[in-house]
Amino acid sequence: MIDPEEIKIAIASGKGGTGKTLIATNLFYSLYTNGNSTTLIDCDAEEPNAKIFFNGELNKTIPVTQKVPFIDVDRCTFCGKCHEYCSYNAIFILPPVKIIQVMEDLCHGCGACLIACKEGAITEKDVLLGNVNSYRINPLARLVEGRTGIGIFSPVPVIKAALKEGRTDQITIMDAPPGTSCPFIQTVVSADYVILVTEPTPFGLSDLKQSVETLRIMNKTFGVIINRSGIGNLDVYNYLRDENIDLLLEIPYDRMIASLYSSGILIAQKTISWQEQLLAMMNTIKAYHASSCYQR
Ligand code: SF4
Ligand code: SF4
Repeated sequence: MIDPEEIKIAIASGKGGTGKTLIATNLFYSLYTNGNSTTLIDCDAEEPNAKIFFNGELNKTIPVTQKVPFIDVDRCTFCGKCHEYCSYNAIFILPPVKIIQVMEDLCHGCGACLIACKEGAITEKDVLLGNVNSYRINPLARLVEGRTGIGIFSPVPVIKAALKEGRTDQITIMDAPPGTSCPFIQTVVSADYVILVTEPTPFGLSDLKQSVETLRIMNKTFGVIINRSGIGNLDVYNYLRDENIDLLLEIPYDRMIASLYSSGILIAQKTISWQEQLLAMMNTIKAYHASSCYQR
């Protein structure tokens, strides 16, 4: 049977700027401050910023690399086979003028071109995609951060490495990348529960609908936090009611929250009621999770 105390929660939103890192960092703080061994994994690897809110000692940096082909032009006959085998259009070739080049940004490291080349003109080299940084915040808390290098086409390999490094048998909070594309899917696929953060505006609703559709296809259990409640209109509330989606928490629009957050200060550190609300939400999620574990 799956251990109900072991839970992975992804915090996601269909677009950036809705407050998912606000929730992820404050939930992480509230959990470890109240005696729960917790790991926060910042999977927003193109723009990780959770570390801003915590003092912690960097205790490990793991480079994330990918094999990409290297073509020896002296051995190449410019037959074009590697170009044909590449599903990602990552090999540029102009046989009449003997030009061939691997476009490393597009390469997925699948190795098909190596198999295609019968001349032995292709070998592999390692390209650095980014790093995974692991910080010890205190004996109960660890923060693992995926950080993709500048100009790297996809953050997915770095996210995968961060998730692997952050693996734990306790509580894991994953701050997911915005959107519903591959980086989002890579993060939420291993989650036991997904918290979607939205705001009560037409844009918020549109992005929320996309996230909900994706999570339903993935058969994930999820609930919604409405951030900046009091702005916009009631359409998000009506949508949640019509779709029978749990509203986990509402966070009112408050200049004090925005001001503390933009100064790198956790609201849960300043306001005990924030901790209480987040821990109450966490208990609800754990109860869902426990009942689903016992049913399996
Ligand atoms: S490794 Fe795969 S993706 Fe990269 S160039 Fe070769 S065939 Fe294309
Ligand atoms: S398959 Fe080999 S020989 Fe042919 S074009 Fe590619 S690198 Fe050159």
